[in-house]
Amino acid sequence: MKPFFKRNTCRLCHDNDLEHVLAFPATPVGDEYVGAERVDDIQNIYPLDLYFCNSCGLLQLLDVVAPEIIYGEYMYQTSISLGLPEHFQKNADEMLHRINPPPGALVVDIGSNDGTFLRAIQNRGMRVLGIEPAREMAQKVTDSGIETLATFFSSELARQIKKDYGESAIITANNVMANIDDLADFAEGIRELLAPDGVFLFETGYVVDLIQNSVIDNIYHEHLCYFRVKPLVNLFNNHGLEVIEVEHISTKGGSLRGTIQMANGPRTVSSSVSEQIALETRLGYDNAEIYQGFASRMDMVKKELLARLHDLKTQGKTIAGYGASVGVTTLLYYYELGDILTYLFDDNPSKHHLFSPGHHIPVLPSHEIHDKKPDYIVVLAWRYATPIMQKHQQYQEQDGHFILPLPEVKVI
Ligand SMILES: [Zn+2]
Repeated sequence: MKPFFKRNTCRLCHDNDLEHVLAFPATPVGDEYVGAERVDDIQNIYPLDLYFCNSCGLLQLLDVVAPEIIYGEYMYQTSISLGLPEHFQKNADEMLHRINPPPGALVVDIGSNDGTFLRAIQNRGMRVLGIEPAREMAQKVTDSGIETLATFFSSELARQIKKDYGESAIITANNVMANIDDLADFAEGIRELLAPDGVFLFETGYVVDLIQNSVIDNIYHEHLCYFRVKPLVNLFNNHGLEVIEVEHISTKGGSLRGTIQMANGPRTVSSSVSEQIALETRLGYDNAEIYQGFASRMDMVKKELLARLHDLKTQGKTIAGYGASVGVTTLLYYYELGDILTYLFDDNPSKHHLFSPGHHIPVLPSHEIHDKKPDYIVVLAWRYATPIMQKHQQYQEQDGHFILPLPEVKVI
C-alpha cells in the first residue's frame, strides 16, 4: 500500500489547469494523537497544499492519503455519540415531510455512523439501509436492527444495493462528500441507486464560510474538497443529475445543504441554486485571487501571533494550548507552535494523556489548568472560545490569560 499519492488532474472535472493557492505545512494525519509508547517515534507527514481548478472552480487537496491510514483507527472505533436522538427524530420528520416518499420506501444513509438518524426514519415506517466503513460499529448497528453495510460507497456498491434492496427514494450523505477522492464514481453511484422520483440530500462544508470566517482548522487530509455550489452543479450535471435546491446553514463553521434529483425529474428547480452561484461569482470565488488573498491574510495573522508568543517566551512566560482535535493539528503546524506550547488542555476524555501528532505535546484534562497554571493559553478550539472562557473564569481571575489565534489575534 502506498501511503499517499498525488493527483495531477482535478478530481471533479479532470482538467489539469490547477493553481497552487494555499501552502500549508505538511502534517501527520490530524487525528493521530499517540500514546506514551510512541512518543519517541517520528510520525509520517503528508503534504497539505490546496489547489484551485481554473476550469471548474473547485478548491481541493491533490495529495490523497490512503484511507487505511486516515481512517485506520476510526475504523475500529466502537461508538460515537453524535447528538440527542430527539434532535435526529426532528430532523428525520422534517425531511420526510418535505420529500414525502411513498410509505415503506427505501432510505439509504451514506456514512450512517451509529445509525441514530436511520433509526428515526425507521420509526416512521420506512425501510432503511446504512453504509458505514467502521466495521465494528456497522456490525453493532446491524445487530440492533438497522442493517448497515461495512464498506465505502461506490458505483459498484450502488448497483449491488439496487439489485438486493431496490431503488432508493431518499439517499442522504452528511459530511461525507468532502472526503471522497473519486467524485465521478460517487455521483455515478447516486444516479444508479436513486428512484426516478427520488432525491439525494447532502450536507458539506462551504468554502465561502471557510474563507470569510478564517476556519483554517477545517483544512486537513480527510477533507479533499472545499465545495461551493457552482462546481457541484457541474459535477451532478455531468452524471445525469440535477441540483434543485441549496441552503446555506451554520453547521460546522458554515455548510451547504443540497437537494439533488435525476436530470429533468419531477421537482422544480428552486431559484436558490442560481442565486447562490451568482453570489459566489460576485464575491470572487470563481478566481484564484480570492484564495491567494486569503493566504496572505492568514500569513499576517500568523506573523502577529508568533511575534506575541516569542515575546512572552522571552519574558519567561509559560504558554499552553486549548483543544486537541483533528483541526488543531493543522493550526499547530501552520502557526509553528510545536516548541512553544507546553501542554494542550482538552475536554474530550478520549484524548487525555495522549500526545499531539508529530510534536507530541501532552494532552491533559482541562481541569488540570488549575494545577499547571500556565501564564497564557492559546485557544486553538477558537470557535468555542466563549464557552471555554466562561468555564475557566477562575483561571482568568487568578491572572491567567487567553489568546485567541483567529479570526484575528486577541489577548484576553
Ligand atoms: Zn476542475
